[in-house]
Formats: sequence, structure tokens, C-alpha cells
Amino acid sequence: MPELPEVETVRCQLDLGLTGLTFAAVDKVEPAMMRDCVPEEVEGLLPGHRIERIDRIGKFIIVVLDDDLFLTLHLGMTGQLLIDPVEPGAHTRFVFRLAAEASTGGDGEGRAGARGPGRETLLEFRDMRKFGRFHLTSGGPAPRLRQLGPDAWKGEWDAAYLQHRLRGRSAPLKAFLLDQRHLAGIGNIYADEILWWTGLSPLREAGSLVEDQACCLADEIRTRLSEGVRLLGCSLSDFIDTAGQPGEFQDWLQAYGRQGQDCRRCGGTMTRTVVGGRGTAYCPDCQR
Ligand SMILES: [Zn+2]
Repeated sequence: MPELPEVETVRCQLDLGLTGLTFAAVDKVEPAMMRDCVPEEVEGLLPGHRIERIDRIGKFIIVVLDDDLFLTLHLGMTGQLLIDPVEPGAHTRFVFRLAAEASTGGDGEGRAGARGPGRETLLEFRDMRKFGRFHLTSGGPAPRLRQLGPDAWKGEWDAAYLQHRLRGRSAPLKAFLLDQRHLAGIGNIYADEILWWTGLSPLREAGSLVEDQACCLADEIRTRLSEGVRLLGCSLSDFIDTAGQPGEFQDWLQAYGRQGQDCRRCGGTMTRTVVGGRGTAYCPDCQR
């Protein structure tokens, strides 16, 4: 499942490739993946609107359009956003055509069509399992974003915030990290990596951390997510970027998927357990 670094990789590429372009046509939608809107609205409203910028919070991509319109996209388990895909996809759910200038309507300045139709850019949302989400809203991004804590990588939070959120929590530390209400963007892979680097057990009570440990956890959250972003995401399963390329973070994993192998810090044997229903790899010898 794409986590913050994978979604940030996609956001960055969408921002470079699509900002300034205008929706020209909606060729395909998947009603089952749509929230806060119906197909007729998407087909009727989107054409003529320009992309101002692409934001992100946690695992959500926010396409900010002119006239206070917002697309909020979530890649779910297997979602992929591709710009001008080379090969046709088997699980294409949404297809949009964008152009460098408005091709329908106009902005009252006679720009539309003045230089003739520009080259079109194709944006495809593919998703084998259809757990991805597509929201079209006016006045702000999807309401469900209000339930999220600050972005785990770029958000305004610090060790004191983390300590405050940890206090009194009996949930296992790993479950705390996965709870998007505290911090948004961490999923199963990065949670295991962050915890290995801190030397903290995924099973210990979240509320049991002392100040130094909370500070260390805060540092590692930012550091590991930064590494993931720098390496353009993790492609253990389906993740590819908007050009169809995989990331490299999977080559640098210290915990996730390493059960049965030697711990690279202490030489002990990495173990697999289940925390909050999620498979979890850790070293019982040096993660306490
Ligand atoms: Zn170890």
C-alpha cells in the first residue's frame, strides 16, 4: 500500500507535469471509487478548470483547481496515477485529458482557442482493487481529511506534540504509529522501519515512552520518511510512479519483511508478529 513517501513521489511528479494545465475532457470515471460527488458532476464540472497546484497530507493527494474546486485522491492498496502512460493498463478507472489552455468555456479574456488546441496530456488513475478514492469538492478538500493528524513528514509537529499524543495510550506503539489521527502518512512498512531504527519494540505500550524515547521516535519518523522520499518510494508490491518507474527504498529495508534473517544491528534473529492485525517484523533482542 502506498505510504507517505510513495504518495509524495507521485505528488511531486504531478505538480511538475500537470500544474498550470486545464482539464479538457473526462473520458472515464469509476463510480464505485467516487466520494462526495457523482459522475455527472465530475464530467460537467471539471472541464475548463485549471490546476493551480498539487498538495498532499498524509497519504492523500489534493489537486487544487481554480474557482475553489478540489480533487482529493487516495491510492488505496493498489492505486497508480500515470501521466501519458506508454502501455494501456488493465485496471484503468479514470481517464482525464488536460491541455495547456482552456479548451471549453473561456475566461472572458478570449484566451481559449486563441493559439489553437495544444498538445493534450493524459492522466490515468489505475487501480486493480478499487480501494482508491476520488473526491470532488468545492470550498475545501474532502471532509475526511479533517480527521487526520498533522502530516508525519512536513506537518507542524514536534517531539512535545508526539509525547502529548503518546501519554496514557495503552495501544501498542506500532498501532499508535499507524493511527492517522495522531500523525498522517505512516503505514505498515515505514512503521516497522522507524521502530527498528529507534530500538523500540512495536509491542510496547505507546504511553510507556519516556521523554528521550519520544524525541528519538520523532527524529526517526522524519528521517525514515525523508529517506523514503529521497529514494522515490518503496516498490515491494505494486507501487510505480507517474512514469511507471519503481522506487528504491525496498533495497534499504532493515526490518520490514526480514523475519527469520539476522538483525543488522545486534545479529539476533528478526521475528514476525501481528500488531493490530498487521504483520510486523522486529528484533526481539534489541528492540525493547
Ligand atoms: Zn537486533
